[in-house]
Amino acid sequence: MRAAAGEGTTAVGHVTRFAPSPTGALHLGHAFSAVHAARLARTSGGRFLLRIEDIDQSRCRPAHVEGIRADLGWLGLAPAAFPLLQSSRREAHRAALEALRQRGLLYACTCTRGRIEAAAAPHEGETIAYPGTCRGRAPPADGTPFAWRLDLAATGLPLTQQWDDLAAGPQMGRADPAGDPILWRKDDWPAYHLACVLDDAAQGVTLVVRGRDLASSTPLQRLLQALLGLPAPRYLHHRLLLAADGRRLAKRDRAETLAALRARGADGPALAARLTDLAPSGPDMALSLMDLLV
Ligand code: GLU
Ligand code: ZN
Repeated sequence: MRAAAGEGTTAVGHVTRFAPSPTGALHLGHAFSAVHAARLARTSGGRFLLRIEDIDQSRCRPAHVEGIRADLGWLGLAPAAFPLLQSSRREAHRAALEALRQRGLLYACTCTRGRIEAAAAPHEGETIAYPGTCRGRAPPADGTPFAWRLDLAATGLPLTQQWDDLAAGPQMGRADPAGDPILWRKDDWPAYHLACVLDDAAQGVTLVVRGRDLASSTPLQRLLQALLGLPAPRYLHHRLLLAADGRRLAKRDRAETLAALRARGADGPALAARLTDLAPSGPDMALSLMDLLV
């Protein structure tokens, strides 16, 4: 029998992860995420893990995987285990999808992005919620490519989800900002949310540390964890680092990549120490490289 929380003598630390997509070079914002994930594992006596989220095969490049490993090594952040390549878990993802299909919770969607947008007539900057056009449909007999969507209403789970965020405090959000989510894509790869929750569980992640730009994904991910019978991890959504002029850091800003800093001979562990000293909570923070490197 399992001991109840708080019982026994072994305190178990946080298992955290850094889960970048190898679609570009890492920048300071990624380093901020990684150092805090590593710090929370280290200070609690837990484990810091790396997962390469390489399921979007059209956008991922092996060179970026190498870059991620080199950047973490340079920062002095050694994962506690061999990195998990998300693409290697595709059949496990498929098995979970199949179980949901057998429960009657999925439908085949043949809509194109253009068709969904035309039907929704969104205002500029608005998220387009999928209106459920294909709900109840089986895969087309004529071989038309389709995506599997989850029928959220059919799950019977609450669409409003709450969690106590370690950086942001009590949070509440809806699992359906985009309507019924795609769980399996037309290109025959799992969608981000499905792969993410299955892999967090497979890696034994107990604390998800990531930027607040991903907090809108959390209600749906919590719903999926409940649906799939996975343990619910805790969450810390940290503030974002901005460029000195207040813009969002983006993978396309070459000058701010960790690789560029490395090439200029910057001190990786010193940078990691400075980022560790910046609290993960609080307003988004514009900073110049000079502030961090001197
Ligand atoms: N792979 C995602 C990204 O690079 C992060 C996913 C996550 O941390 O849940 O933005
Ligand atoms: Zn559809």
